[in-house]
Amino acid sequence: MPCLVPYSSNALPSALPSIYTIMKKYINFTNEEKLAFKREANERYDEFKARGLCINMARGNPSKAQLALSEDIFAVLKSGEDCFDSTGLDCRGYGTLAGSTDCRKLFADVLGVPFENVIACGSSSLNLMFDFISQCMTIGIGGCEPWMKQKNVKFIAIVPGYDRHFGIAKHFGIELVSVPMLSDGPDMDMIEELIKDDSVKGMFCVPKYQNPTGITFSEAVIERMAKMEPAAKDFRAIWDNAYIIHDFDNDGDPTYNIFDYAKKYGHEDNFVEFASTSKITFPGAGVAVIAASDSNVKEILARMTYQIISYDKINQLRHVKYFSNGKNMIAHMKKHGELLKPKFDAVARIFDRELGGLGIAEWTNPKGGYFISLNVTAASAKKVGQLCKDAGLTLTNVGATYPGGIDPEDKNIRIAPSFPPVEELELSAELLCIAIKKAVAEENL
Ligand code: PMP
Repeated sequence: MPCLVPYSSNALPSALPSIYTIMKKYINFTNEEKLAFKREANERYDEFKARGLCINMARGNPSKAQLALSEDIFAVLKSGEDCFDSTGLDCRGYGTLAGSTDCRKLFADVLGVPFENVIACGSSSLNLMFDFISQCMTIGIGGCEPWMKQKNVKFIAIVPGYDRHFGIAKHFGIELVSVPMLSDGPDMDMIEELIKDDSVKGMFCVPKYQNPTGITFSEAVIERMAKMEPAAKDFRAIWDNAYIIHDFDNDGDPTYNIFDYAKKYGHEDNFVEFASTSKITFPGAGVAVIAASDSNVKEILARMTYQIISYDKINQLRHVKYFSNGKNMIAHMKKHGELLKPKFDAVARIFDRELGGLGIAEWTNPKGGYFISLNVTAASAKKVGQLCKDAGLTLTNVGATYPGGIDPEDKNIRIAPSFPPVEELELSAELLCIAIKKAVAEENL
């Protein structure tokens, strides 16, 4: 599989490990240099192991300092009198299946769609994706036969990608067809070919700061996606915009509103967008939303009628009162960015220092989101993951970024730098680099 994502690997190290006076690719090392490299990697690894570290970087969890940024949200509702939205709706009661109008408007502002096309729900967007696919499976979408009555239903999995998307497909017995992530989004040539098959019913996309590469789809990719004419009339792209406003600073990637592009071709039905405040306020206690075309909204609400009387509108109102508008939400994300950027910078600095120029690994340098994607190009990623674990560092399960947990090239590792403090992160990144070097040295001597 070609790996064309903008990974760095050739930056010159800022501080050279003792044995390298001249930077050289590992493959060009003499046997003597390889032996010295191995010796140093082993020594450093053993030192780390002796420290008895216990660091978990498996998931993209906000740090305690990030959670504290939203602490004032608890103060916005003090009594029953505060529980009315601007339309006079008492958010403590049942009703208003599509969510409080104020909350729909808040997210409409962030997503750039009319509020009528937003449904404000509970706390998890993943839950909403699961329910939507369940709906397509059991009752169908767009007036088509339920997917479970159709043969060999398939979805496109952009790889590396988000393990929980792949998990939903697995749960419903949907076959996943992998399409590689390139430097500006997924391989659109491949996607355009695959959607000629009417058993291909959709795909999972994280268009901004993709999990795990941190890459944002370019405008050209968005345009081609909007233009797609899948053979399946019930094709639906799961447009998971989990990181839509998650820039580290003012230099973030651009945001392209898929519905603006799809409208030109009359293809709004092809996309169902999901987002949440899991990484804005609290994961597990934020607000999740769906944005979709008129007809998709109608079908989703019809299904929800059987599913729930109304979602947690008090939490919706809390978010409305706390943020008021999209601009304030973006301003709030700046504070997250200030906490996250030094962590991503620390990892990049150590990767550059330890691995730069050696040609044994490559990694992404995202401008937002929650993840860095690292490819080990001269050793087994599984072995690296195990070495880290044995020395007290838990990473995302190696392989998890591919369908079925199997990375065909055994090279991708997802790094989640958000949770540990910078000092722990520096240790973790150094240990990871040493583990890579040890694995390379053991496998390539
Ligand atoms: N989508 C993506 C791409 C994610 O990375 C995550 C969190 N790791 C989620 C969805 C989960 O979102 P939620 O908490 O809203 O279910």
